[in-house]
Amino acid sequence: MNPFSQLGIRHDIVNAITDLGFENPTPIQEQSIPVLLTGSNDFVGLAQTGTGKTAAFGLPLLELLDFEQNHPQALILCPTRELCLQITNDLKNYSKNMSNVNVVAVYGGANISDQLRQIKRGVQIVVATPGRMLDIINRKAINFSDVNYVVLDEADEMLNMGFQEDIDSILSTTPDDKKTWLFSATMPSEVRRIAKKYMTDPFELTMGEKNTGNVNIEHEYYIVRARDKYAAFKRIVDFNPEIFGIVFCRTKIETQEIAEALIKDGYNADSLHGDLSQQQRDKVMKRYRERSLQLLIATDVAARGIDVNDVTHVINYSLPDEIENYTHRSGRTARAGKTGVSIAIINSKELGKIRQIERVIGKKFIKGEIPNGFDVCEKQLFAIVHKVHNVQVNEQQIEQYIPRIMDEFKDLEKEDIIKRFASIEFNRFLDYYKNAPDLNAPLDDRAVRGELGDRAPRGTGNSDYTRLFINLGSVDEFNRGDLLGYICNTAKISGRTVGKIDVKGVYSFFEVPKADVDKVFAEFKDAEFKGRPVRIEISGEGTSDNRSGGGGGRRREGGYAGGGERKEGGFRREGGAPRERTGGNSGGGFRDFSGKRREDRNSTGSGGGERRRKF
Ligand code: AMP
Repeated sequence: MNPFSQLGIRHDIVNAITDLGFENPTPIQEQSIPVLLTGSNDFVGLAQTGTGKTAAFGLPLLELLDFEQNHPQALILCPTRELCLQITNDLKNYSKNMSNVNVVAVYGGANISDQLRQIKRGVQIVVATPGRMLDIINRKAINFSDVNYVVLDEADEMLNMGFQEDIDSILSTTPDDKKTWLFSATMPSEVRRIAKKYMTDPFELTMGEKNTGNVNIEHEYYIVRARDKYAAFKRIVDFNPEIFGIVFCRTKIETQEIAEALIKDGYNADSLHGDLSQQQRDKVMKRYRERSLQLLIATDVAARGIDVNDVTHVINYSLPDEIENYTHRSGRTARAGKTGVSIAIINSKELGKIRQIERVIGKKFIKGEIPNGFDVCEKQLFAIVHKVHNVQVNEQQIEQYIPRIMDEFKDLEKEDIIKRFASIEFNRFLDYYKNAPDLNAPLDDRAVRGELGDRAPRGTGNSDYTRLFINLGSVDEFNRGDLLGYICNTAKISGRTVGKIDVKGVYSFFEVPKADVDKVFAEFKDAEFKGRPVRIEISGEGTSDNRSGGGGGRRREGGYAGGGERKEGGFRREGGAPRERTGGNSGGGFRDFSGKRREDRNSTGSGGGERRRKF
């Protein structure tokens, strides 16, 4: 028996949701559907977006309403137009095999006469944002006196947006004996209060712990200097070639600046903020949904209700002013059982905010290191290799060119051809990332105490150590232990003296006491591994020894090293040198990203401001 049928959902609805790919109920559906189907409870569900809560209340509504009758029986209030349309669409999909189901979406920023006309034709379920709903009620164009169910979806968001009074007015037009179902991602005291006000002895369902973020989200933070923030952000993006992300900024201007800078640097990015017309917003969202955009740069308010699945990363370019907003931001990833990463790029003074967020979400952040140029190049290289491997060949179209292509390559061995294909892009990455600076900010003393503690790897941050590069790595089937053994055997040094070992793909790093460096070089002089000369060099970047002045002596030659100015650029940019975007206030570029001097009414002026939890 289908698991939804077991929960009490009828056949024609089960068939419709099966077509949507719903095979098994999500946890919230499993627990709420049987309760809501009784139709006799008020209900409070504490659940994030993306958990399947629309079906959790939508399927029971479709079971409970009388679709022979053509008057409003259910009212669903939600904070944004996007969510309103999404819920309406979902309900239409769930009920596609049922007859005479009329759902109407009522939201601001669209023609009211169309909405009035639809209501007049007869409707059982109204899905609405509060402002427009109240407008329609005030025109006496709808009658809620026979409403049986009211759903308050994303109640915390509606309160954050200052809809409390509108909700009060709307609900006063509904009967006292209706049932109210409230869903909220967080449960601040204001939501608690409205639950108390509108409900009698509600059935409470908490998915996970109270205020806990989605367990499928991994939270990371990176500490950088303010001037390196943009460059660090791009490195993170470049290190994740398949990223499909939402980047949160605090102000509209910051949002625009980052988007413009990214576009100039050749990324598929655009901004979403409150000053865009509805048409412009729709256009941006359409491109994002279709994945023509890889990065959506948004303010908190503008991003509310975004329900795109498969978002891989949420990046907090600036931390939100209110802690609750962090939960909303990160909830845009890891939807529908997927996993996702929420990243905060901070300066060392903001570490306290991270600790506060950890307390609220009940989950620890992982401290990430901004990847160095090597790491990014390697990651991108393998992304290309993967792409080449998986590319769909259009046999018909390419066929006519094959003889010429073959002729062109006739002198080359298979391996050379592969190398050359991979190098087309790879060379560009190498060039962009040559001499890429370390963007990890040194931690201040307080942070060091909090961050490293006992976990500080030997050697790291210790000026007595030097970090060395070695041209062996995981592709040579080394893990850290193996490599430690190999180094100790070859260099004839004790394992205890070796510091941090970082095994990468085709190379690795390891730390040795400065006093041992010459000995290590001498012992490795003629070393070979599987017939290949083993090369060690003093690492060029990203290491504690560099910071503390241990980088004297031999420098790496060729490869990623090279003279000239340090540059940081996105390599999606075609042709020419990448733009200098290491931050700072160079004329003509974008200015400071602190966001301090600018106010964005969209992110700060939403009524509920004072009540919200500030850092
Ligand atoms: P929601 O939290 O209602 O916005 O749902 C998030 C996403 O999960 C939507 O794209 C739904 O279509 C999808 N979804 C909801 N329930 C299920 C289910 N039981 N199985 C698979 N996908 C689901």
